[in-house]
Amino acid sequence: MNNDVFQIKFWGTRGSIPVSGKEFDKYGGNTPCIELRCGMHRLIFDAGSGIREAGLEMLGDGTDHVDLFFSHCHYDHIIGLPFFKPIYNPAIVVNLWSGHMAGRMTTAEMVRQFVSPPYFPVDLGICKARLNFNDFRAGDILTPRPGISIRTFALNHPGGCIGYRIEWAGRSLALVFDIEHQPGVLDETALELMAGADIAVYDSAFTESEMDRYRGFGHSTWEQGVKLAKAAGIGKLILFHHAPSRTDGEMALIERLAQEEFPACFAARDGMVLDI
Ligand SMILES: [Zn+2]
Ligand SMILES: [Zn+2]
Repeated sequence: MNNDVFQIKFWGTRGSIPVSGKEFDKYGGNTPCIELRCGMHRLIFDAGSGIREAGLEMLGDGTDHVDLFFSHCHYDHIIGLPFFKPIYNPAIVVNLWSGHMAGRMTTAEMVRQFVSPPYFPVDLGICKARLNFNDFRAGDILTPRPGISIRTFALNHPGGCIGYRIEWAGRSLALVFDIEHQPGVLDETALELMAGADIAVYDSAFTESEMDRYRGFGHSTWEQGVKLAKAAGIGKLILFHHAPSRTDGEMALIERLAQEEFPACFAARDGMVLDI
């Protein structure tokens, strides 16, 4: 494989809860999971229901090392973790990272509490992979593998959330979810996170016309994503964290409206792969 490859694959793009049915066939129904290939390195962001299939592919191609970063631990971002088969494989090293609860709960505590009775039939002891737990604080710069630099940001979201900016081989990707914006204000953190990025993945759970009903839920809109994209001078904008009720027809309409404002804009769909 080309050693400079920088690729993003969306395994899950839906917010809140997985959905299925013919009205969701095109954009998909898995909750957040994003895989990055940086040369030979493999990074995963969030363990929503989409991570199940990511794990199956990983076992199929013999991956023996993966870094898994959590934006935060709301259910839609961790529900797939016990179904990520690599954690049961003794030949695999899994590095787990989180920072949204710095000083309140460690990554190890978060994962152990989640994968344990009475919420799950067994505890983490059945995982045979080598699990390395890593804690950081928003603002830290992480270097999980040689040549990969990741800046971390505290996003405006109930309970805290981390936005990541990943730099590899002179290119950059901004992951900006889950985040709520204030009406009429361009969020300073989002702007810094996205500044000049080749691709930004942005929380587009709602539309501006819905936003009044959902203040305080911790999410943003495609309209706000477009404003930030223009102000931050990014290459491509990817709409992400789709509302569970949003059908394929509604998604296609949102995508078209967003493209009228910012042509290099796409709605993420499960299985989509982009070179960065
Ligand atoms: Zn979410
Ligand atoms: Zn959340």
